Amino acid sequence: MTGNLWGYGKEDGPSVWHKNYPVAQGDRQSPIDIVPHQASHDPSLGPVVLNYDQCTSIKIANNGHSVVVEFDDSDDRSVIRGGPLDNPYRLKQFHFHWGVKGCHGSEHTVAGNSYASELHLVHWNAVKYTTFGEAATAPDGLAVLGIFLQHHGRFVKAVFFFFFFFLLQGSAADFKGFNPKCLLPSSLHYWTYLGSLTTPPLHESVIWIVVKDPITVSEKQVTCLAGSSEPALGRLLPASGLYLHTFLTQGLYTRNWEF
Ligand SMILES: [Zn+2]
Repeated sequence: MTGNLWGYGKEDGPSVWHKNYPVAQGDRQSPIDIVPHQASHDPSLGPVVLNYDQCTSIKIANNGHSVVVEFDDSDDRSVIRGGPLDNPYRLKQFHFHWGVKGCHGSEHTVAGNSYASELHLVHWNAVKYTTFGEAATAPDGLAVLGIFLQHHGRFVKAVFFFFFFFLLQGSAADFKGFNPKCLLPSSLHYWTYLGSLTTPPLHESVIWIVVKDPITVSEKQVTCLAGSSEPALGRLLPASGLYLHTFLTQGLYTRNWEF
């Protein structure tokens, strides 16, 4: 990672990322504004299939830019396959992007509209590459599944508070037995395009699979989070929203790219 050399402020935000990361001005940069009627249907694309083992999550950490849940990627217990992918890709981590005050936080937009948040499940091509780092710089190295989250009353807040309230920047905790399948919508219809990491170093190495249906975080999904071995959601819910701004590390930015 690149430490704190970049951010989302005026001085270090996306508009100046190209100074340290020239690829920011490349022709395969993400995120993009997805214009549905400009996407063409490819009948050769099958469904994406997620085989996630219950036992591969390891820890949750706040790296200063996002909250990240990491997985054991030493074998193929948790993989994504199908869709535009030639072979299975191993789950490495997932993280969230969110906005100020809990809205307009998605990175991709759909016909110019943003969602409250966006979940990225990051997978790498362990068939072709020996390490995640090697894959992260290769044109077919990563497959990222993007899931939009939309607002729905207190339950979405519960999830956000879960992350904000527990984790100070730089902190980490064991987070075992969590299966991210419970964070997915029932339909996995998707858009796909060849893009990049959305944060520095912005490598153009990502096969994006952006799921069309957002999730509205439900009581069941919150229960799923609470059911993870630790931290337990019940003791993390704050009594009010006073802490919401304390741990925000990331705001909305816009960089729109056409297909
Ligand atoms: Zn991301």
